[in-house]
Amino acid sequence: MAESGYPSRIGLEQALAIVATRAAQHRLPIETVSLVEAQGRVLGEEVRAPHALPPFDNSAMDGFALRGADLPATGERAFTLVGEVLAGAAFAPAVASGECARITTGAPMPPGTDTVVIKENIAIEGDRVTVKSGEKSGANVRAAGEDYAKGDLAIAAGTPAGAAELAVLAALGIADVSVRRLPRIAVIATGDELVPPGQPLGFGQIHESNAVMLAALAREAHAIVSATRCVRDEPEALRDALLDAAADADIVVSSGGVSAGEADHLPNVLQTIGEIHFHKVRLKPGMPTLFGQIGASLYFGLPGNPVASAVTFRLFIGFALRAMQGVSTIPKPTHARLAASLHKRHARAELTRCSLHVDGDGVRWATPHARQGSGMLRGLVETDALALLPEGTREYAEGDIVLLWP
Ligand code: AMP
Ligand code: MG
Repeated sequence: MAESGYPSRIGLEQALAIVATRAAQHRLPIETVSLVEAQGRVLGEEVRAPHALPPFDNSAMDGFALRGADLPATGERAFTLVGEVLAGAAFAPAVASGECARITTGAPMPPGTDTVVIKENIAIEGDRVTVKSGEKSGANVRAAGEDYAKGDLAIAAGTPAGAAELAVLAALGIADVSVRRLPRIAVIATGDELVPPGQPLGFGQIHESNAVMLAALAREAHAIVSATRCVRDEPEALRDALLDAAADADIVVSSGGVSAGEADHLPNVLQTIGEIHFHKVRLKPGMPTLFGQIGASLYFGLPGNPVASAVTFRLFIGFALRAMQGVSTIPKPTHARLAASLHKRHARAELTRCSLHVDGDGVRWATPHARQGSGMLRGLVETDALALLPEGTREYAEGDIVLLWP
């Protein structure tokens, strides 16, 4: 705890715990949308099967439906063909002992039948269908409810709706679904040195690149970007921009101005218009990360170094978005072996940009990028994973197992 009254220089786990607690207090409301609109949204309520799936016993193959008890144990037996039932047919003929009906995949089993013999295994002549021994009673039938029984939990609350979830909902006849409202994120880049791309650079100026990146990360996380802007390092301008953004967003994210430099005004500004929940995390990159609240919005002040901005977005805002939407699925931890030895210069937790490859034995290897500088965008573009090296250990040998941030 710092003299200022909020946690400072805290460990990553504590920081994530604080974000989780605050985000859970900012759970997004539930709304009803169509299945098409539900893609990528998080289910607000559990869905139970309103009817069995499949709704009726049906054939898994194209063939002939008959009674399993009629199947020959040895030799062969002739059945009388009494009709046919195709998928979608409004009616299925009754089939008595010694009889069979032609059936297609997905068609309802005719009353009296419990077995389908595939058409490749029979001989047919007029209305005589001959079946040899070796067929199994009950084969090739999909029982009503074998996928989902009526009342089964089909999708748990907090599940993000992907293609598979949407298919289950549709198959269960559900056209509209309760989901969390999409989170709205406002993005603010700060810095006197920043010039928008497309404009020439003057002395000491650089092109602004965090705003478009953070907005893209927000959209990749299925959030709505409510505003994107660039603000100078002036306390009044920053204050106005933050208040403006917070009026229309669930999360306000800024980049730059959170360290200890002359022009790093954001911690002070945040204290005058809101509340600080923590400042500075023992993390590399991302040490100066600032977290707090402005009115009803959560606020993340990310460091300006582009890599630090990207990594802390994925770390903290990705995490907050899940909590705000009540996501209940836990990302499966993935691991990799380090393809090269590694030396951490600090004890701080580190998120190292790595490229992954899987060798012929199925072992996943992570090769740390040679340029780990938090201002170096190359390390972001040329890698595909973040390896989390926890606080403490500083020496890693080739082959050591590391956790990949989901
Ligand atoms: P700051 O966190 O404001 O001290 O900035 C750290 C470094 O990141 C400085 O070199 C800044 O010029 C750079 N930087 C800050 N904001 C951006 C931005 N939006 N786009 C590109 N670089 C930035
Ligand atoms: Mg700055």
